[in-house]
Amino acid sequence: MNDVLLSASHLTKRFGGLAAVNDVSVDLWLGRIHAVIGPNGAGKSTLTNLLSGDLPPTSGRIMLGEREITGRSPERIARAGLGRSYQKTNIFQPFTVWENVRLAAQSRAPRPWHWLARATSFADTNERAERALELAGLTHRRDVVAGVTAHGEQRQLEIAMTLATSPRVLLLDEPLAGMGTVEAESMVALLQRLKAEHAIMLVEHDMDAVFALADRLTVMVNGQVISSGEPAQVRSDPNVQAAYLGE
Ligand code: ADP
Ligand code: MG
Repeated sequence: MNDVLLSASHLTKRFGGLAAVNDVSVDLWLGRIHAVIGPNGAGKSTLTNLLSGDLPPTSGRIMLGEREITGRSPERIARAGLGRSYQKTNIFQPFTVWENVRLAAQSRAPRPWHWLARATSFADTNERAERALELAGLTHRRDVVAGVTAHGEQRQLEIAMTLATSPRVLLLDEPLAGMGTVEAESMVALLQRLKAEHAIMLVEHDMDAVFALADRLTVMVNGQVISSGEPAQVRSDPNVQAAYLGE
């Protein structure tokens, strides 16, 4: 049994003379959270953009399951089972929580060729949206206008919208950004719940959350991986102490 759902090898992304991501390899496993940390400008968001197809790599290869997705469009990659959240929110503020999740679910609905298919996919779409709402812990907030919900709930809503596309691989770019302690704790609990059924890459600055959640940890500096492995080992790696955690 191979539970590696996404495997990226030797990814490099150059912007002119700058290697924003430099020969980075990463495997994402079902049931594991792989945290990626590093100072600002380390290349974490660029790596996320390479995996999601938002940026084409200069070189390297990305496999999603058995499928090679290198250079594919973000839409095709999403349809193949990869979901991502953005640092900037995609929420449509005037709509309710439910409407936002329903729209996200619809973006993944199969194209109906037939009125019968349309009826089936309508039910599927609703069911996917309901499930996503529940997983994200937002069922009780479904009829609230998104724009008036608390910051933490909006971040939960972004996760619900990502889940509504039924991804198996989740890329989360700083889901705890701007959160207070209570909101952060509930996001940590949510990510813990998502772990069993997904392979997750978590880019995050909140070290308490990283060490609470991560099964694997990769540290990037200047586009390169300086350490990767079990969180406890990475934490005590002298390279990491010097370059990042010890700062
Ligand atoms: P992080 O998310 O770790 O803070 P980024 O991936 O955003 O880092 O950025 C890595 C490096 O690549 C930075 O030096 C940044 O300025 C540069 N960079 C990111 N995106 C672009 C772009 N579209 N064009 C040119 N340089 C970029
Ligand atoms: Mg970033």
